[in-house]
Amino acid sequence: MSASAESRPDRSHLWLGAALFLAALVAGWLFVGFVAQTGNSIERARVQSLARTAAATLEAGRIAALSGSGADIGTPGFDAVRDQLRRVRDANPDFRFVYLMRPTAADPNALLFLADAESPESPDYSAPGDVYDGPSASLLQVFRNGMPLVEPPSRDRWGYWVTAIAPVRDGTGKTVAVLGMDVNADAWLATLARYRAFALAICGLVLALIAAFTFGLHLQKRGAARLGALNRQLAGKIDELEAAQERLRLADVVVRHTDEGVLVLDPELRVLSANPGFVRITGQALDAVLGRVPPVFDEDADALQQVCTRLQAGSHWNGTLWSRRADGDRFPLEADVDRVLDAEGRVQHFVMVCRDVTVQKQLEDRLRELSATDGLTLLANRRSFDETLERCWHHATRHGEPVSLIMIDIDHFKAYNDLYGHGAGDRCLQQVATAIAAGVRHEGALVARYGGEEFAVILPRTDAAAAQEIAEALRRRVESLGIAHSGSPAGSRITISVGISTRTPPQTDDYVNLMQSADQALYRAKESGRNGVVAAG
Ligand code: GH3
Ligand code: MG
Ligand code: MG
Repeated sequence: MSASAESRPDRSHLWLGAALFLAALVAGWLFVGFVAQTGNSIERARVQSLARTAAATLEAGRIAALSGSGADIGTPGFDAVRDQLRRVRDANPDFRFVYLMRPTAADPNALLFLADAESPESPDYSAPGDVYDGPSASLLQVFRNGMPLVEPPSRDRWGYWVTAIAPVRDGTGKTVAVLGMDVNADAWLATLARYRAFALAICGLVLALIAAFTFGLHLQKRGAARLGALNRQLAGKIDELEAAQERLRLADVVVRHTDEGVLVLDPELRVLSANPGFVRITGQALDAVLGRVPPVFDEDADALQQVCTRLQAGSHWNGTLWSRRADGDRFPLEADVDRVLDAEGRVQHFVMVCRDVTVQKQLEDRLRELSATDGLTLLANRRSFDETLERCWHHATRHGEPVSLIMIDIDHFKAYNDLYGHGAGDRCLQQVATAIAAGVRHEGALVARYGGEEFAVILPRTDAAAAQEIAEALRRRVESLGIAHSGSPAGSRITISVGISTRTPPQTDDYVNLMQSADQALYRAKESGRNGVVAAG
C-alpha cells in the first residue's frame, strides 16, 4: 500500500450511511403520507358509517311523501321527519347541521331542502322548498348513485368540520333524499395528528438508528485505523528494538573479545563493569575491581585528580598511567575516559578504555635513545648535547648553580687517518670516547660526541676548579691509552687538547657564551702546543 493511500481515510461507510439516511428520509416521508391517508380513510369510514346509520333511522316513507315546499310546514309528516332529524342531531354533540335535500322536479341539478333540524328562528335555518345555493355536486352524486360520501374537513368560524352525506332509501332501495350532516372534525384531526405523530416517531427512530449505525461504523473504522497505525508503529519499534539488540549483542561481543580494557564507571568513578580485556591486562580479579575506583589510579593519585578535573569541565581525558599488575609489575597503560550523558544532559556513566603500551613504550624509549646516541661511539650525539645543555642551563639559572663545559679535540687526527686509514681512525675514536666516558663519574654529567673527532662534557653544579681536575684527568686517561700515532708532532701517541669554561647564571646572558668561551679555550690549548688543558677566563 502506498503512503498516500494509507494516509487517505476510508469514508465509504459515511457515504453509505448518508445514502441510507436519504433513502430512509424519502421512505419516511412516503410512510407518513401513507399513515395519514390511512387515518383519513378510517375517519372517513367512521363518519360515513355515522351518516349511513343516521339515514337508516329516518322514515323513508314519510320523507318520500314530503312535497319539498312551504306546504309541508305544519303537516304531521314534516313534523315527524324534523323530530327525527333533531334526535339524530342531539344524539351526538359532534353533530351540528342535519338536513334533508333532494333535487327539484323542475331541475335535476338543483337541490331543495326538505327538512332541517335547525330551529326556524336560527339564522342558519333552511325552510322546506329553499333551493340550496352551495356546491351541490357531492349531494347530487350521493342521490344518484346511492353511495354515502364524506367531504374533506373544512374550517369555518366554529372550527373544523366535515360534511357527511348519506342516501335515504325506501323499502325498494330507491333513494328518496340525501341526509346532510355537518360533523365536528376535531376527533378526525386529532386521530390524524396521532397517526402522523406515530409515523413521524417511527421515521425518526429509523433515521436515528441509521445515524447511530453510521456513527458507530465510523467509530469502529476509525478505531480500526488507529489500531492499524499503532500496530505499524509497534512493529516499527519492535524492528528498531531488535536492531538495537543486535547492535548491543555485537558491541558486547566486541567488548568481550577486544584486547583493550573497557570499564564502565558510575558518576563517582566507581567500577560498574569490566571486560575480560581489563582483567587480562591488569591481572586483577573482576570481584576485586567492582565497586571501587579503578586500580590503575592506585599508583597515580595526581592522574586521578587530573581526570576528575577534566571530566568535570566536560571534556574527554586521555593520558598514560603507570599502573601495577596483580603480580607487582609496573607497566604503562594508555587510557581514554569519556562521559555518557542521559537525555537531560546529566552524567550517567563514564567509560574508560585502556590498553597496555609496554611494548610501545619500550620501542619509543629505544627510538628516543637511538635518536640521542652517536652510532660510532655510542655516546650522546650533538642533538642530545644541545637539549641537555639547554635544560641544564635553565636548571642552573633557577638554582644559581655553576655549569662547566669541557670541549675536547683529538690532536692531529687528520694525520692519523691519513697514516692508519679511516677504519683505524674509527676504532681510535671509539677508544677515546670510551676512555672519556669512563673518566666522567660526576652526577648528572653528559659526555657527547660534539662532531668529527670532538667531544664535549657537560658538568652541572661543577665549579671551575673541579672542572679543571676532571679535564686534566681526561687528558691523562687518553694519553695513557697509548694509541700509537707516529705522525703526531705532539708525541708518538694519540693525545687530546681540552678547553674549559665555567659559568654561573645569571653571570652570563646565555649558554652560547659558555660554549664560545670553552671553544676559545680549546683553541688556545691547540695554540699552546696541544695535549694540554686551558680554562677560559
Ligand atoms: P688538530 O690537532 O688541529 O685538531 O688537527 P686535526 O688534524 O685533528 O684537525 P682537523 O679538524 O683538520 O681534522 C680532523 C679530522 O678528523 C678530519 C677527519 O678526517 C677526521 N674525522 C672526523 N670525523 C671522523 C670519523 O668519524 N672517522 C674518522 N676515521 N675520521 C674522522
Ligand atoms: Mg677538530
Ligand atoms: Mg683535531
